[in-house]
Amino acid sequence: MMKIAVAKGDGIGPEIMDAVLTIFKANNVNLEYEVVEMGKWVFDKGHSNGMTPEAQQTIENLGILFKGPMETPKGKGVKSVNVTARKTWNTYANKRVFQTLHGDTVFSKAGILIDITIVRENIEDTYGGIEHMLTHDVALSRRFITRPGSMQVIKYAFEMARKKNAKRITCGHKSNIMKITDGLFVECFYEIAKDYPELKADDVIVDDLCMKLVTRPDLFDVVVLTNLQGDIVSDLCAGLVGGLGFAPSANIGDHICIFEAVHGTAPDIAGKNIANPTALLLSGLTMLRHLGFMENAATIENALLYTLEQGIHTGDFGDKTKKSVNTTEFADAVIANFGKMPKQGAKPTWPNKPVTPTVFKLEKNPLIVSKEMEEETIVGVDMFIESIEQPTEIAEKCLKHTLGIFKLVTISNRGTQVWPKGSVFTNLVNQYFCRFESIGDAPLSQTDIIELYKRLSADFKINSTELLNMWGDKKAYSLAQGQ
Ligand code: NAD
Repeated sequence: MMKIAVAKGDGIGPEIMDAVLTIFKANNVNLEYEVVEMGKWVFDKGHSNGMTPEAQQTIENLGILFKGPMETPKGKGVKSVNVTARKTWNTYANKRVFQTLHGDTVFSKAGILIDITIVRENIEDTYGGIEHMLTHDVALSRRFITRPGSMQVIKYAFEMARKKNAKRITCGHKSNIMKITDGLFVECFYEIAKDYPELKADDVIVDDLCMKLVTRPDLFDVVVLTNLQGDIVSDLCAGLVGGLGFAPSANIGDHICIFEAVHGTAPDIAGKNIANPTALLLSGLTMLRHLGFMENAATIENALLYTLEQGIHTGDFGDKTKKSVNTTEFADAVIANFGKMPKQGAKPTWPNKPVTPTVFKLEKNPLIVSKEMEEETIVGVDMFIESIEQPTEIAEKCLKHTLGIFKLVTISNRGTQVWPKGSVFTNLVNQYFCRFESIGDAPLSQTDIIELYKRLSADFKINSTELLNMWGDKKAYSLAQGQ
C-alpha cells in the first residue's frame, strides 16, 4: 500500500486532519499514513526547523507530505515552519484551486461558475528576502527571476493544465514596467507554450488581470504568475469563491510535494471541534489526484459539493438562519453523501490509477543552469552612491574620474533622471544611481570597474554596484530613464 507522511499541525490542525482522514478511510482510499512530528510544538521542544530529524527523514523517504496548518513561532529571525518546509524541499510551484462551492458569494448567487487554478512561483522574486538599508533613508530589496526557475514552474503549469483538459492558460505579469525580470518570465512562458498547441496561451498585465478576474472570473482557467504577484492574485481569487476556508494549496517540487490548506491554525477556535475542514479536504483531494486516486477524489468531491448544496455548513460560512454543524458532523455528512451528485459542477469520475512518487536519493544539490547562448561582454557599471549634493555637483565629481575609458551617461534619483536633464520639481533622497558606460561599447574588464570604484570612492560612499553586460548585441540591463 502506498504510504504518505502526515503532519497534523497546530491549533485546529489535528481536528480538521482527523476529519479529512476519516472521510478518506470511509471511502476506502488505499493509502497508509505515517504521522510525523512537525509544527510549533516541535519547535518548542528545541528543533529549530520545526521538525524532528526522524520526521524530516520520513518525509524525504516518502516524497509526499499532507500537512495541517502550523503556527509561526514568535521572535525576530525565527522562520515560519511552513516556509522552512517549502524552502528545504524546493517546492517551486504553488498550486491553488478556486471554485464556486457554496451559495454565499456574489458570483454563485448570479449562477456564474468559477474554476480557476493559480500556479504561483514559490521560491524566487522578492521572497529571497535579500534586503539592505543602503542609506539611513533608502531600503533596497533584490528581486530574482531566473530562467531555470521560471521554466520549472511554467512547465509544471502547462503539464497540469494539459492533464486537467484546460482550454486556456494565462501568464500574469508586469513586463511593461519590469522589462527584464517579468520580461524573462513571459519569454519562458511563450517558449514552453510552443510544446502545448492545444492550449490557448496568452498573457495579461497583472493589474488588468485583477480587474478582469473580478468582472469575468469565468473566462479564466489556469493562471501562472511570479511569487509576489501570485501571492496577491491568489487571495483575490479566494475572495471570489468565499474566502480562505475554501482554498486548498499544493506545493510541488521535483522530489517532495506538500499538500495543505491556505488558512492558518485559527487559534481563536482551536480545540472546539467547530473548524471548517473543507480547505484541507480539498487539498487532500488535490493530493489524491496527484497520486492517481481519481475515482476516490471524484466521489468525495461530489459528496462535498452535494453537502454544501444542501446548506450544511460549519459556523464560519453559509446561511446563518440555518443551524451550523461541527467539524465531525460535517465530515459525517460528506460520508453519508458518497454516491450523490451535485446539481452544479459535478466532477467526472475516472478510474483510479495510483502513481507511486519517485523518490530520489540526492548526493549533491541539483544544478539548474541553462546553456549560455551568446558571448558576454562588460560594457559599463551602475554605481549607487550616497550623497545630498545637487545632481550637477555629483556629475562634476563623477566626470573627473572617467579614466578616459568611461562616459557618464545618466544620473537618477529613485529611478527619475536628474542629469543631464531633469526637473527641479523632483524630490531628492540621499541615494543616486550613476550609470557609466565604456566609450563606443568597448569591452571592459573587472579591473577597469575596480579602478573606477577606487577613484569614485575618494568622493562618495558607494553602497552598491551592478555590472552592465551585453549578451551578443543585446543589452542585459534596462535602459535608464532618458536613455
Ligand atoms: P488563520 O487563517 O489561522 O485565521 C484567520 C481567521 O480565519 C480566524 O478568525 C480563524 O478562526 C478563521 N479560520 C481559519 N481557518 C478556518 C477554518 N478552517 N474554519 C473556520 N474558521 C477558520 O490566520 P492567522 O490568525 O493570521 O494565523 C494563525 C497562525 O497560523 C499564525 O501562527 C500563522 O503564522 C499560521 N499560519 C499558518 C499557515 C500554514 O500552516 N500554511 C498559513 C497561514 C497562517
